Amino acid sequence: MFDTLSDRLGGVFDRLRGRGALKEQDVRDAMREVRIALLEADVALPVVRRFIDSVTEAAVGHAVLRSVTPGQQVVKIVNDALVEMLGGEETPSLDLNAAPPVVIMMVGLQGSGKTTSTAKLAKLLKEKQGKKVLMASLDVNRPGAQEQLRVLGEQVSVSTLPIVEGQLPVDIATRALQSAKLQAIDVLLLDTAGRLHVDQGLMDEMKAVAAISKPRETLLVVDSLTGQDAVNVAQSFAGQVDLTGVILTRMDGDARGGAALSMRAVTGKPIKFAGIGEKMDAIEPFHPGRVASRILG
Ligand code: GDP
Repeated sequence: MFDTLSDRLGGVFDRLRGRGALKEQDVRDAMREVRIALLEADVALPVVRRFIDSVTEAAVGHAVLRSVTPGQQVVKIVNDALVEMLGGEETPSLDLNAAPPVVIMMVGLQGSGKTTSTAKLAKLLKEKQGKKVLMASLDVNRPGAQEQLRVLGEQVSVSTLPIVEGQLPVDIATRALQSAKLQAIDVLLLDTAGRLHVDQGLMDEMKAVAAISKPRETLLVVDSLTGQDAVNVAQSFAGQVDLTGVILTRMDGDARGGAALSMRAVTGKPIKFAGIGEKMDAIEPFHPGRVASRILG
């Protein structure tokens, strides 16, 4: 994860750490390299600028440059700024504080890993939090989407709403809510239709589903490999529904890290989970501190 970025930054900071004394110019030279590394990682330009400015300001202070280990101090400043950029010290959690069934609505573009993430999340809620979970697919556009969720449900031993051919998304959501109430379900996961691009018809459908199901969490699933595009997609969805968080998938294959590093700063939305593989347990809470340590090696 983030290997290319990590290698680039590792090289810069090894050189800094290895030196006894540092001058202001050394810090500025290092920051120029960091800037290039972040831009190559596809981090949004305003985010890079803010990051470099704040780190430079903190790092060229006399206290840092005159300290016994200036290189290490600079790396610490960079680490703290990275954690901030990734969302801060706290690991964001799911808000399930509502009368059951608590609804989690999953949204995103087709192919982002939405259906897989729905099943992964269901498994996690069942096994780690002891929740009774029901999943329902509202994707009537993509042939086989509802069946895909049913099969995944069997794999993770979480029940799915029986499929009724020809039913519309809002009606499926209504049926899912009724069924969840009857079965005393704790958490209902609604897998909404994926879309090829951000289109208004499907946005309206999603809003109608949100209006009747009143989701406590609306999670956007985006592919981290798409870099800044993932952030643009998040901006578009955030303009239409009240997104409460992001699930960033395929982080296992992302060498660059631009989506992870820009998401919070650009959209204000927290990354709540990272998808780290195809298996059903390949999902983990997104810990900014741990991700920053991984990047800095
Ligand atoms: P959807 O169209 O958004 O519902 O996408 P799917 O859930 O069908 O996922 C598309 C493909 O991406 C599938 O082959 C998944 O196994 C794969 N996938 C999803 N999440 C991850 C992830 O975190 N890592 C990897 N490596 N593959 C993933």
